[in-house]
Amino acid sequence: MVDVLVIGGGNAALCAALTAREAGATVLLLEAAPRAWRGGNSQHTRNLRCMHDAPQDVLVEAYPEDEFWQDLLKVTGGRTDETLARMVIRDSATCRPWMRRHGVHFQPPLSGALHVARTNAFFMGGGKALVNAYYRSAQALGVEVRYDTPVDRIETEAGRFVAAHSGAHRFEARACVVASGGFESNRDWLRQAWGQVDGAWVADNFLIRGTRFNQGVLLRQLIDAGADAIGEPTQAHMVAIDARAPLYDGGICTRIDCVSLGLVVNVHAQRFYDEGEDFWPKRYAIWGRLVAQQPQQTAYSIIDAKAVGRFMPPVFPGARAATLPELARQLGLDEGAFVQTVATYNAACRGGRFDHTVLDDCATAGLSPPKTHWARPLDTPPFQGYALRPGVTFTYLGLKVDARAAVHFGGRASANLYAAGEIMAGNVLGQGYTAGVGMSIGTTFGRIAGRVAAQAAQAGSSAPAEPMTSCETAHADA
Ligand SMILES: Cc1cc2nc3c(=O)[nH]c(=O)nc-3n(C[C@H](O)[C@H](O)[C@H](O)COP(=O)(O)OP(=O)(O)OC[C@H]3O[C@@H](n4cnc5c(N)ncnc54)[C@H](O)[C@@H]3O)c2cc1C
Repeated sequence: MVDVLVIGGGNAALCAALTAREAGATVLLLEAAPRAWRGGNSQHTRNLRCMHDAPQDVLVEAYPEDEFWQDLLKVTGGRTDETLARMVIRDSATCRPWMRRHGVHFQPPLSGALHVARTNAFFMGGGKALVNAYYRSAQALGVEVRYDTPVDRIETEAGRFVAAHSGAHRFEARACVVASGGFESNRDWLRQAWGQVDGAWVADNFLIRGTRFNQGVLLRQLIDAGADAIGEPTQAHMVAIDARAPLYDGGICTRIDCVSLGLVVNVHAQRFYDEGEDFWPKRYAIWGRLVAQQPQQTAYSIIDAKAVGRFMPPVFPGARAATLPELARQLGLDEGAFVQTVATYNAACRGGRFDHTVLDDCATAGLSPPKTHWARPLDTPPFQGYALRPGVTFTYLGLKVDARAAVHFGGRASANLYAAGEIMAGNVLGQGYTAGVGMSIGTTFGRIAGRVAAQAAQAGSSAPAEPMTSCETAHADA
């Protein structure tokens, strides 16, 4: 029997597999995807957020623990577990040498990359290169990998892992790390979570930014089997993306990053949120949710020529027009309403000194909702507009874990079942997001889960499960 079974094939799973193997455990990794599509959402990433007290190779200046913590506290509105969050933050300061040892290279950020030169370390070659490096290292260390192996059920006994089932195959192991992502790719589950408005399923207008393989099968099954859940099903990292993006795997090139430089209107040509609330890396992940709450789950990001060159342009050009009425026509918006919205906004802009690198004093006055920073009149043609739809990155409903990454059943820690990555990210992210923290969470908890699972397998292979009276019947509300 293998010591540690790892379920999933993205960053968290690979960190767990590598760490367990380094600790001397035999490791089998089961990835649902075929080899060509291995790596889950992690293959789409670019960076991870790192605390540092002084400049460190690709990271400039300092990003101390408390600043990272305050950033997280702000975006989550306090819906975070401080102990687990601080573990992630501290580990982010020291994980990179380990990542390098497994073949990950870092590079300075490209200009225009979300103002994150200070806070985020970028992977050379992106997440695909990171995932490939980890698979290479895993292979060299003797981790066994099976592709095309979606696990459909985890067998537990009184909260203790016994085996994983994939079709007719049954995989026993002494310990297990489940790192199979959230449920963002499961459109039926998204439908249930978001419900209907005016007889139409809200989630039918969502696009999935990453892998199609994160169906939440094991999340659902474990919750039904009594594992404690954390988070709400509609809370997620959701970005406003190009409405023309494909249903799955559009990746980062479909993001529309000019929101804070212009206006966003809904299908009725009305504004609905402060586009300049905060720096874009701290706000980009709420805009998918904001668009999801608008009619037809559609909105339009509008800029003028002054914004061009100040953001990473999307791959596909948007609508472009010499006048505002012409732009409205191209976007299918009511011309009169659109022109009026822009005129009202323009009249409310109160000048100031525009500086997109700070929270500047260019704000509107007497406008609802206000635009609190970077508010400049849209008056310089050509005008451009991009239709937006919600792009789900990953969901936050997950498995409750403790500092050892142990899955809980009825409030009690499992002796040999651990969770890492998106499937437990809701412990740290109750809502909101700050760029790069997804990979920080997966790297920290993947490595913890791998180490602890190896210990559990080696030391406790014969340890009896603790009696868990309440867990067997407890069903958390998903
Ligand atoms: C476009 C995009 C860009 C992103 N950019 C960043 C970024 O720059 N920085 C950052 O921090 N975060 C970023 N994220 C978020 C980041 O991808 C996640 O936080 C992180 O990758 C999660 O890692 P994970 O291993 O938990 O999940 P994943 O990498 O999604 O891995 C889950 C794995 O589980 C497998 N799986 C699913 N179900 C089963 C099953 N039943 N049986 C077996 N295997 C299964 C999947 O095939 C997949 O391999 C981005 C996400 C997307 C979509």
